[in-house]
Amino acid sequence: MILEHRAVGPFFKNGFVLGCEETREGVIIDPGDEVEELLAAAEQHRLSIKTILLTHAHLDHVTGVGKAKQALGVPIWLHQADNILYEHVVQQGQMFGIHVDPQPPVDAFYDGEGPLRFGRYDVRVFHTPGHCPGGVCLAVNKEGEQKATLFVGDTLFAGSIGRTDLPGGDADTLLRSIRDVLFRFPDDTVVWSGHGEPTTIGRERRTNPFLI
Ligand SMILES: [Zn+2]
Ligand SMILES: [Zn+2]
Repeated sequence: MILEHRAVGPFFKNGFVLGCEETREGVIIDPGDEVEELLAAAEQHRLSIKTILLTHAHLDHVTGVGKAKQALGVPIWLHQADNILYEHVVQQGQMFGIHVDPQPPVDAFYDGEGPLRFGRYDVRVFHTPGHCPGGVCLAVNKEGEQKATLFVGDTLFAGSIGRTDLPGGDADTLLRSIRDVLFRFPDDTVVWSGHGEPTTIGRERRTNPFLI
């Protein structure tokens, strides 16, 4: 799988481009302020991007959606329970004292596990509320292969977990999402979070101070 990640200030939120090395189809995950770099990476790999997938609708994860949509003309996917947050992205910015442009409307809401597809890859969608009501984790695997790579948004980080003090957050719900959904994946599953370095399910199971 082709995997590119970029992060820029002020939030240093990870945005991703995934691509199928055989068909050159791809997806963009959580385009934020680094959207131009993601679009350049997609072009460098000669990818035809099929969808814009959002793990959740906090402003740092969606500020580049409009530019991505304009450049690519492909559907935007989000969990329905985060659409209110998404539609209030301008007000989210005001909470942090920054200007954010309104973003184009979501085209489709995740409907169960899926899978969505790009090329020979499946994207399974797991609702993992707690950090926010409509947070999802995306499990990506090549067709016919068990081994998945996880994109978990702000649900789980290397050595930490998502904050639950923002509107719609709930600590018990977040811990349940991590234990019941993410910790069902094998220890060697690679986890890409919305911020910071990648980790694995096994490492977090053994060493994450919020979870042991
Ligand atoms: Zn968030
Ligand atoms: Zn974030």
